[in-house]
Amino acid sequence: MDKPDNPAEIAPVRLGFDSRFKFECHPGVSCFTKCCRGIQIILTPYDVIRLKNRLGLSSEEFLAIYTDPHLMEKTDLPVVTLKLLDDDRASCPFVRDDGCILYEDRPTTCRYYPLGVATLQHKEGADDDGFFFFVHEPHCKGFEEAKEWTVREWRENQGVDIHDDVNSEWTDLVVRKRSFPSSIKLTEKAKQMFFMVSYNTDQFRRFVFESPFLERNEVDAETLEKIKTDEVALLNFGIRWLKEVLFRQSDAVRDAAAGTAAPPPDEPPKEDTD
Ligand code: SF4
Ligand code: SF4
Repeated sequence: MDKPDNPAEIAPVRLGFDSRFKFECHPGVSCFTKCCRGIQIILTPYDVIRLKNRLGLSSEEFLAIYTDPHLMEKTDLPVVTLKLLDDDRASCPFVRDDGCILYEDRPTTCRYYPLGVATLQHKEGADDDGFFFFVHEPHCKGFEEAKEWTVREWRENQGVDIHDDVNSEWTDLVVRKRSFPSSIKLTEKAKQMFFMVSYNTDQFRRFVFESPFLERNEVDAETLEKIKTDEVALLNFGIRWLKEVLFRQSDAVRDAAAGTAAPPPDEPPKEDTD
């Protein structure tokens, strides 16, 4: 049997589902809640759905009050992070001395912690998917605890699977966008569409049902009925539609750039000639 990885002794490690580590987090650790301050937490679409519903807010209200916008470096796609408080410790708005006030609905990144997921990184170079790594913050004393996990066991214990399942179409879109040459840029309109579908559920619902969308896109009756009330179904419907719109045209732009096809006639992605 392999010796469990000790992150204190090892430089950045690429972890798989069966990688093992010692860790435990509980209110008795001296660092309790330190990891909920001064951090950058990228929110996934499912995180926003759960958090806004937990707080009884519309998606617009939640985004305005609790998030900051960012652009992913590699993909140029807009994402949001949790907006930290303007206190001396840059605290997460949901942390208290006795822990997280919405623990059952905490975001994907908080569930994975102290592990990170490559697909949720938005820095240059973090462009592989399907692996994990230790976030490795020196204040985290959980690694000194005796309990041992595999990455798979940790994910199960933290309830990460449903988040990853719901977000899988979205993650796939992000990863696919990364594979495009950096010369292929999204238009501002395409970025706004990505943002709306990913995070602003209420606005996207209105876009589907209160604009000419349904005149231009054929949607079967069963799907239509479902997406009226089911936010997860609406999200995944939106991401599939977005992939169709973005990648059909991006594929054509890429082929055109390679000299194998004519460029597409209209909107979203366009080749950057700067
Ligand atoms: S820093 Fe580590 S051990 Fe401390 S509360 Fe956070 S996750 Fe737990
Ligand atoms: S959402 Fe909860 S677990 Fe995540 S950083 Fe904030 S307080 Fe901590």
